[in-house]
Amino acid sequence: MRLGHLVVPAIALALVACERGAPTPQRAAVTAPSTQETTPPRVPEVFDHVLLISVDGLRPDCLETPLLEQFPNFARILSGPHTLEARTDPDYTVTLPNHLSMLTGRPVLGPSGHGWIANTDPPAEAQGGTLHAQKRSYVQSVFDVAHDHGVDTTIAVTKTKFVLLTQSYSDASGAPDGVGKDDGRQKIDRALYTTRASDLGGIVADTLRRSPAPSFAFVHIGAPDFAGHATGWDLAAGSAYLAAVKDADGALGTILDAIESSPALRGNTAIVLTADHGGGVPFKSHTDKTAPINFRIPFAVWLGGGAAADLRALNPARAWPDRETQLDTAAKPQPVRNGDAGNLCLRLLGLPPVDGSLYGAVDQLAVIRDEPPKTRPSKG
Ligand SMILES: [Zn+2]
Repeated sequence: MRLGHLVVPAIALALVACERGAPTPQRAAVTAPSTQETTPPRVPEVFDHVLLISVDGLRPDCLETPLLEQFPNFARILSGPHTLEARTDPDYTVTLPNHLSMLTGRPVLGPSGHGWIANTDPPAEAQGGTLHAQKRSYVQSVFDVAHDHGVDTTIAVTKTKFVLLTQSYSDASGAPDGVGKDDGRQKIDRALYTTRASDLGGIVADTLRRSPAPSFAFVHIGAPDFAGHATGWDLAAGSAYLAAVKDADGALGTILDAIESSPALRGNTAIVLTADHGGGVPFKSHTDKTAPINFRIPFAVWLGGGAAADLRALNPARAWPDRETQLDTAAKPQPVRNGDAGNLCLRLLGLPPVDGSLYGAVDQLAVIRDEPPKTRPSKG
């Protein structure tokens, strides 16, 4: 099933691929100082494929021992820099507002906020169902920056409310492409929908295998949230919630296996994984923004393995609040938030941050030690 309208003829994809030429891991060296060409980095400076994976309602304590032993694919992700002390938006611990923070780099409220507080299916596109109509000005997203720079873009989601994305960034509502070649106003090349985590992993893996480079995908795994609302954010052995986290782990495994078994993807693909919120206050929901088990979330960056580093050590200038503390959007510095995810994905693609974004735009999150400057050559 597809969400919204999606039209990118194969010929258009072929043209993009052809124009960009064959991917090479040395691409960034074109613009890097010559001294940096002599010592290859442990991981690519710029990745050809980047996935932003959000696991809806994932409590970070699922990723601590001993529970982590049940989730070997989350453990694979945690081989990269990560923290279990990231934060949601300070004002909302619900799904759609937090995902919009990830994808726009904005908080929910305030002058720099994206302004979307509803958490239900949006009205139709022509009836105010776009971020721009709500904000009364265009709200740029990670999809704009990626698409306008010639990056292939996908969303693969498990909730219908994400139709807000295809509506906001459609051929009618998306902004004109002001960067190089005109890639059109529709910023999302394909939108894929299923409710089952077990299907989602295969769908994402298939799409990734067929994606021209460079590509970006936003992947939403709803299973833990569905189980949490049904029977509670319950960490007891045998709970439906833990079974759903296991389903999410299976989807991750399918995606990671696809990457590691593909010469074109292996070493060339990065994943940023986070959550929109935790859950458990109240027990079958996550609406209390003051509850630590709702606002504490994981944030992990997988760079192909072999890049293990402590996200906190890499980012000493960020705020690192204790487990009971949330910080508001005025705090300086900011903690690592799920709202950092979009701009980090763009940076891993060698692209600039989202216009109007707050999180990770100036105060960029470091994920590789002694990072060289990252730039993706102009598409011309
Ligand atoms: Zn929920």
